[in-house]
Amino acid sequence: EIKENTVVTVHYTGTLPSNGDTFDSSLERDPLTFLVGHKQMIPGFEREMLGATVGEKREFTLKSEDAYGPYMEDAVQQVPPDMFGEIAPKEGMTLMSDIGPLRVTKVEDDLITVDFNHALAGEDLIFNVEVIEIRDATEEEITHGHAHGPGGHHH
Ligand code: ZN
Repeated sequence: EIKENTVVTVHYTGTLPSNGDTFDSSLERDPLTFLVGHKQMIPGFEREMLGATVGEKREFTLKSEDAYGPYMEDAVQQVPPDMFGEIAPKEGMTLMSDIGPLRVTKVEDDLITVDFNHALAGEDLIFNVEVIEIRDATEEEITHGHAHGPGGHHH
């Protein structure tokens, strides 16, 4: 069963309770593999899957604080275009910065609005999860803090 230091492979679909939209699903690609207990996943996801066995399906709703955290108004900032160097900022663009990913949400002539919130910040999330495989983690995986092998992290 799923517990700390197991490597778990699941198929999952995430939807938004607010409008029913699917924001992410593994069903059109390979299932997701992760090491339990090492912060590879958002906190509520692992908590809700603890104790599940192979073939089991679970559906649960996570509050935003157990998912991608609250939406923070002060994580929205306005910056001059020259902050982007050679990149021409466009609305909807996601860029990496020194303090994490940011999304460009508005482009005006002399002012660019950027949002450091995760795209799912402030959202409650519904997950439908099916457990495909469970195995014990190797010593190396536990040391690294992530899963290796197919569907996991590669070196
Ligand atoms: Zn590794």
